[in-house]
Amino acid sequence: MTAETAEAERIVKDAVEAGCIARSEAEWLAERIADSGVRGAMMDGAAESKRMACGDTVTVSRNVFIPLTNLCRDRCTYCTFAKQPDSAEAKTYTLSEVADLVRGGDLTGCIEALFCLGDKPEIAYRSYKEWLEGEGFRSTAEYLVEGCKVGVEGGLLPHTNAGILSVAEMEALKPHNASMGLMLESTSPKLRGKGQAHQYAPDKDPKVRLRMHEEAGELRIPFTTGMLIGIGEDAMDRVDTLFAIRDLDERHGHIQEAIIQPFHPKPGTGMRWASALPDEAVAGWIALARLVLGRKIQVQAPPNLAPGLLEQLLHAGVSDWGGVSPVTLDFINPEAPWPTLRELRDRTEAAGQKLVERLPVYPRHLVQPEYFAGEMRERALTFTDDRGYALPRGGLEAS
Ligand code: SF4
Repeated sequence: MTAETAEAERIVKDAVEAGCIARSEAEWLAERIADSGVRGAMMDGAAESKRMACGDTVTVSRNVFIPLTNLCRDRCTYCTFAKQPDSAEAKTYTLSEVADLVRGGDLTGCIEALFCLGDKPEIAYRSYKEWLEGEGFRSTAEYLVEGCKVGVEGGLLPHTNAGILSVAEMEALKPHNASMGLMLESTSPKLRGKGQAHQYAPDKDPKVRLRMHEEAGELRIPFTTGMLIGIGEDAMDRVDTLFAIRDLDERHGHIQEAIIQPFHPKPGTGMRWASALPDEAVAGWIALARLVLGRKIQVQAPPNLAPGLLEQLLHAGVSDWGGVSPVTLDFINPEAPWPTLRELRDRTEAAGQKLVERLPVYPRHLVQPEYFAGEMRERALTFTDDRGYALPRGGLEAS
């Protein structure tokens, strides 16, 4: 064993016992994450931290993905989701189409209606703004409230990720959502610079995104966030992003999960020639996320973005596979099919853990009524077992 591996083991052991890691020590590990001995110590510690947080439970949310509109005012250079209004693939769902998707989700045992859409397209596209006005809405956020109501009426629990929302917009959405989310992505301001991934994406300004996270905390909204890795940020930027997430939860207590999502180059995008992080680096960053975020925040990795890596990700402290849909594509990463729930269960069990279906909100927040408005908490509780996870709705075997 090298001296560095021994030091990594000491740091990780102390961090796991304390429940989380000090920033200087996280930085020390981050600088050496390419060292397999250091990374191995991090992963062992992260696995132990995860076990202390939630035993052998690994969660998943069976969802229907509703991309209410794929128009977006931003232009991130890695994105294939957003389309221009004149594209044959541009699509805004009518409320009756939303109802059809919700019905499909309900029939296949889904609980979550995931509303994921572009950011304020009405600012960029006059034709869309006019369409919205013709339907009687001043903004996408107003239209989204009606979409979420359709989701609730169809028997599902909405989770909204609609980009940057104002306090008033989040307040209007709260009674119709079990939780909401926004990927923090990165706290690095340099990504907005010339030639960088977010140059033409004003809503990706880290200050704007941090502010919405703060406001969601003040509004007591169970919140999903996350870090996108490999879009031009460096190791210290990633550490900074993880500590920003931890700091938000320490002050507000609303961060339910952090998605650690690796960038994948996509044909037709500005970053099509950029390299994705190697698999072992992804596992290392997930381990560091677990060590930084401690035991209250769930660490999520999308299983369709690393299908060959699931066992390594579990060893790195992943506690949640996110949303997996039996009826709809991952519209953000359409090239990456979701595994079936059966495959996910089998591989999770083969790694010595147990797959458990959850709601779009976790037990941690379900027991706190202030995190819900209107009838949402009562609705959510009708789906839960005595631990706050999902009662069977068709069972995993159905998938
Ligand atoms: S990544 Fe999100 S914000 Fe960026 S262009 Fe795509 S849909 Fe818009």
